[in-house]
Amino acid sequence: MKRIAILGAGTGGLIVANLLARKLRHEIAKGNVEVSIVDISKIYTFEAGLPLYVVGAFNEESLTYNKINLIDPVVKFYHGEHGHVVKIDLKNRQFATAKGGVYNYDYLVLALGVSYDPSLVKGLLDDYNTYYSYDKAKELRSILAEFKGGVVVHLISSLEVPIKCPIAPSKFSLLLDSYLRNVKLLRNYKIIVATPADHLHAQPEVNKVLEERFKDLGIEFIYNFEVDEVDSKNKIVKSTKGDTLKYDFLITVPPHRGPKVVHESGIGDPLGLVPVDRHTLTYRKGRERYDEVYAVGDVTNLGVAKAGSVAHYEALVVAHNIASEVLGFSDKWNFFGETICPYLEAIYSPSSKGRGWMPWWTYGMLGRPFVGNRWAWLLLRMYYHTIPLTLKGLI
Ligand SMILES: Cc1cc2nc3c(=O)[nH]c(=O)nc-3n(C[C@H](O)[C@H](O)[C@H](O)COP(=O)(O)OP(=O)(O)OC[C@H]3O[C@@H](n4cnc5c(N)ncnc54)[C@H](O)[C@@H]3O)c2cc1C
Repeated sequence: MKRIAILGAGTGGLIVANLLARKLRHEIAKGNVEVSIVDISKIYTFEAGLPLYVVGAFNEESLTYNKINLIDPVVKFYHGEHGHVVKIDLKNRQFATAKGGVYNYDYLVLALGVSYDPSLVKGLLDDYNTYYSYDKAKELRSILAEFKGGVVVHLISSLEVPIKCPIAPSKFSLLLDSYLRNVKLLRNYKIIVATPADHLHAQPEVNKVLEERFKDLGIEFIYNFEVDEVDSKNKIVKSTKGDTLKYDFLITVPPHRGPKVVHESGIGDPLGLVPVDRHTLTYRKGRERYDEVYAVGDVTNLGVAKAGSVAHYEALVVAHNIASEVLGFSDKWNFFGETICPYLEAIYSPSSKGRGWMPWWTYGMLGRPFVGNRWAWLLLRMYYHTIPLTLKGLI
């Protein structure tokens, strides 16, 4: 029997598991193959919906899903302590869980995402508001509902590990502006985005559109701002160069890190991300190669965006290649860095027709001209509500 283990039941892991369940259904039924997926949590959060949720344009029912309803019944799902991976041993093809179980595999898919560490910025935990996690987004939604005006500093605190969805901070800034202006009818506010990068978006065409839009709306952006400290008492953010930004309300994208278990198992790079071949997505660390070990999604150290769309494209490749090998075929697919990074730039209402943009690119091709109209906005919103179909590997 071939055992395929998927560690992490988030966007990438769920798609791999469900695709394998379909591609290998007959082998699973005959008892020749077993597909298992493990995760600490049995709740899936649709993170792309978080910025919309904070400004009241998305509801909780569309944001979280019970993974049991998303996973094909032929896949074995372990969660809680049984699914909490505490050690990965690539040499011996084993992993261990917090409950004490040790499991062997023939194929391993690492889909463990990334974690946040706001404690890396001095003082940040004293004034930590973010839309990057569900719990904090919930808090932020209530705080903003009471917001009466002032300077909002939107701080991207670190890019050492690239942040999830590089366009999310711009998307959120535009949605926030639309919310404060068109829903709350405020005029006495200012949004300032501060980032350590020298752009809002690494794709030049996308960046141009964003900068123009920000200027039109009066959203200020400050580049090369490396945060040193948050002084919550005086409501000041200080940079490493000694610049200061005074705020009335601070919203922060926290520093990201690779998952603890990757770091502690000694299988990651110094930031805890998994090194893989950029086309096959199989494990490569210097001379160490494991062709039966794959990684998908945010956990890889590839220079591609950390986005659900990327995890999706990677999952298609990994599921195809594992199934192909198990079934004795020789055709293998490659990943070419396919990325879609959509954003919505205003809340849709009778007075403001929201617009959506769908930039996309690959390893070899910069962001192409992309659509920006209200049909894209409606399409994206529809897509956001059909996310379970994507996770089930049906789209
Ligand atoms: C605010 C925001 C907006 C975004 N907007 C978009 C967007 O518009 N479009 C887009 O494409 N992407 C967007 N993204 C990014 C997208 O959500 C992620 O890139 C995507 O979910 C990554 O999938 P993944 O499978 O790599 O990781 P995840 O979906 O994070 O899954 C990782 C899983 O691993 C589990 N795990 C971690 N450690 C362990 C362990 N030790 N043991 C067991 N399980 C473990 C976690 O519980 C989690 O379920 C956004 C993200 C954010 C935060």
